[in-house]
Amino acid sequence: MSHTVSTKVARYPWLQEATEAVENRVDGFGDLVSDAVLDRAAERAIYAVERGEVGEIASSPRVELYSYPVARAVVSTVDDHAVTRRYAWAEAATAFDRLKEDVNSSTSFGSVGEARLEFSDLVREFGFQARELSGSQTGGGAEAVSAAYEMPVERYLEYASGITGEEWKLVNREMTEGRVKVGRADVLELAREAILRRVSEGLPLDLPPEVVEQVEPAVDDLRDAVAHADLSSEIDRVEESEFPPCMKALLSDVRNGEHLDHHSRFAITAFLTNIGMSTDEIVETYEVNPGFGEEMTRYQTDHIQGKTSPTEYSCPSCATMVTYGDCRNRDELCDEINHPLQYYRRRLDELDDEEGEEDDGGAEDGEGGSGDGGADEDDDDAGETDDEVEDELDTGGGGDGD
Ligand code: SF4
Repeated sequence: MSHTVSTKVARYPWLQEATEAVENRVDGFGDLVSDAVLDRAAERAIYAVERGEVGEIASSPRVELYSYPVARAVVSTVDDHAVTRRYAWAEAATAFDRLKEDVNSSTSFGSVGEARLEFSDLVREFGFQARELSGSQTGGGAEAVSAAYEMPVERYLEYASGITGEEWKLVNREMTEGRVKVGRADVLELAREAILRRVSEGLPLDLPPEVVEQVEPAVDDLRDAVAHADLSSEIDRVEESEFPPCMKALLSDVRNGEHLDHHSRFAITAFLTNIGMSTDEIVETYEVNPGFGEEMTRYQTDHIQGKTSPTEYSCPSCATMVTYGDCRNRDELCDEINHPLQYYRRRLDELDDEEGEEDDGGAEDGEGGSGDGGADEDDDDAGETDDEVEDELDTGGGGDGD
C-alpha cells in the first residue's frame, strides 16, 4: 500500500496513475469522503459552473486527489447536462493550463519533477505515439516549445476530430507516410481534448443511494450555485450609464491601465460579453490597457461566449463578487438583487420606462400601464439564498485538510 500521495497525481487526478493511487488507498467510496474533501469537491464543481476552471489545488495532495472522484459523484447527483459539460470542460481547461506550465517550463524538471508532468508522460498517457522529428530542437525547457513531432494519422484524427478550426483539418496538415506533423502546442491541444473525454467518460455516474447521501452537502452547494449562475438571458444592449457599480469600477480600472486579477478580469469580460458586446468591441475597449493583450482577450471572450467551450458563461453572482472583493460601490438597488446582470436588467427597464414617459410627451397615462410587465420575473427569487451562497463560497478556499 502506498503511503503518500504525490503532488503530480493530485494536480492531474485523471491520470491512470492517479486512479490507481486512489484504488490502492481506499476500500470504498466512503473512505474518500471527509469534510475537507467534500468542500474541495464542491469548489471544483462550483468553480467549473461559474468560472470555467476548477480552482487552486488544496494544500493536502490527498484531499486534492480524493476531491476529483467525489466531485464527479457530486456532478452526477445533480445530473444536469449543462453542469456535467461545464464541469468536464473546466477540468480539461485547468489541466491544460497546468500542462502548458509544466511542459513548456524552462525550469529543470529534475528539481520539482515529482509535481510535474513531462511531455513524454503525456504522449504515453494518451497513446499519441508522437515522435520528435530529428533536428527540430537543440535543447530542453523553453527551447523544446518549438519542437516538431509526427504522429500516426489515426491517432491524430481520433482527437483532432473533436477540435474546431481549419488548422485541424487533415487537408491543412503536412503528412508523410501516414504520419501527421504536429507542433508541441498541437499535442497539448490534443491532450486537452483527450482529457475532456476522459473526464466526461461515464458521467453522470449511476450511484448507489449511500454515495448520494454522502455527497449531499456538496450537492446542495452546487445546486445553489447553478441556480444563481444562469442569469445571462437575452440582454443585448450596451448602456454604460446603467452598468452596476462593480462593473463601472472594473471598467474604470481597465481604462486607467491598472492590473486586474484573473477573477476581476473574468467578471468584467463575462459581463460585457453577456450584455451583447462582440469580441472586437471588447478588444477595443481593453486596448487602452497595455496589460490586456489582444490574444488573451480574444481567447477569454471566445471562451465565455462558448466558442471554445461547450456553453456560454455568465458573469459571477454578487455573492462571488463579494468573495473576491469585486463588489464595489454598492448602491440601494444592490440590496434588491443578487446578480450584476439582474441589476443591469432592472436599470434598463427603468430607463425604458423613463423614455416611454418622455415619448408620450406628457400625455395622460394610458390605462394599459405599458412597460413594466415581466421586468422583474427574476427578482422574486432574488435574495432568499444570497447569504447562504456567500457563506458557501466563503468556504471555497478548501484544501486545508490534512
Ligand atoms: S451588489 Fe452585486 S451588482 Fe451591486 S456592486 Fe456588488 S456585485 Fe455589483
